[in-house]
Amino acid sequence: MKQIGITTTVPIELLIAAGYAPVDLNNLFVASKDRERLISVAESAGFPQNCCTWIKGIYGVCMEHGIGTVLCVTSGDCSNTIMLMEVLKLKGLEVLPFAFPESPDVKLLNRALDFLAIRLGTTVARAEEVREELRYARRLAHRVDSMTWREGLVSGLENHLALVSTSDFDGDRSGYERRLEALLSEASRREPYPEHFIRLAYIGVPPVFGPDLYPYLERNGARVVFNEVQRQFAMPEPGPSLADQYCSYTYPYSIFERVKDIQAQLAERRVDGVIHYVQAFCHRGIGDIIFRHAIPAPMLTLEGNADFTLNGHVRTRIEAFIDMLRRKTRVAGAGPQVTTNL
Ligand code: SF4
Repeated sequence: MKQIGITTTVPIELLIAAGYAPVDLNNLFVASKDRERLISVAESAGFPQNCCTWIKGIYGVCMEHGIGTVLCVTSGDCSNTIMLMEVLKLKGLEVLPFAFPESPDVKLLNRALDFLAIRLGTTVARAEEVREELRYARRLAHRVDSMTWREGLVSGLENHLALVSTSDFDGDRSGYERRLEALLSEASRREPYPEHFIRLAYIGVPPVFGPDLYPYLERNGARVVFNEVQRQFAMPEPGPSLADQYCSYTYPYSIFERVKDIQAQLAERRVDGVIHYVQAFCHRGIGDIIFRHAIPAPMLTLEGNADFTLNGHVRTRIEAFIDMLRRKTRVAGAGPQVTTNL
């Protein structure tokens, strides 16, 4: 199968139906041992210092991994992608655009899917068959999620990796299924996390310092039981059709679609506090204003740029936040709650 790079979660069912193997360029970048060099490839080509690291990483990956075709989301993801798309064209790559509709409307989404299907030389009906083929892998991801928050048997990092990988199933769906089956089997024999651990939600785009963040939280007696965007990548509400599935996927639409999902999950998962991750130079950071207004839980906003590990300043803020939550949950056990945002 011919590889096709993707810059965010898209209806991969259509790509697979057309004979492509989707590769999530973000995952390829962040998992690379050469991340700093990939960023410098982009900066040497002229990407400004104050451009988001993910965009530079995607560009670097395209250049270094010989990606020939990229599907770029022009509406419903990132305004920077539009200019990235133009630069990739300049460099001779084949670029296909895909636009999520402005609102999650099944009719509009069907139109967008049809348009892409024609461009790829396939049909939505064939993509519906692929959707069935992907169902098992997605079910495994949902089971990992459930074992994280219901049973306390899966770590926040394992949850993050299992869910974030559903954008392309690591380019190897059978391998992904085997890995998750093994994880589920091994996790079912573990002792659950202690009840006194603080329960956290992680909202926002996936972090550049994920492999460092989650274990650090756990070393401080807190764990992530809800990875918001990563869970959305796994399509928790598949619905009756491909269009329904991608209408229930909250990320490309108004932030208020995300807020509704977050509010429901915070209550169901009994979350004590929220970490909102924002990427430096990302327009989505402004959404912090809305989250702080709409989310009734203490919130810590962390910004990451191109540091792939937690620096001392971020560690101190995390420790202070967990400490505050611990005191708050103790107070809540004894009387009225105190709400503080850091
Ligand atoms: S973090 Fe923000 S600016 Fe960067 S690629 Fe994602 S949406 Fe775009």
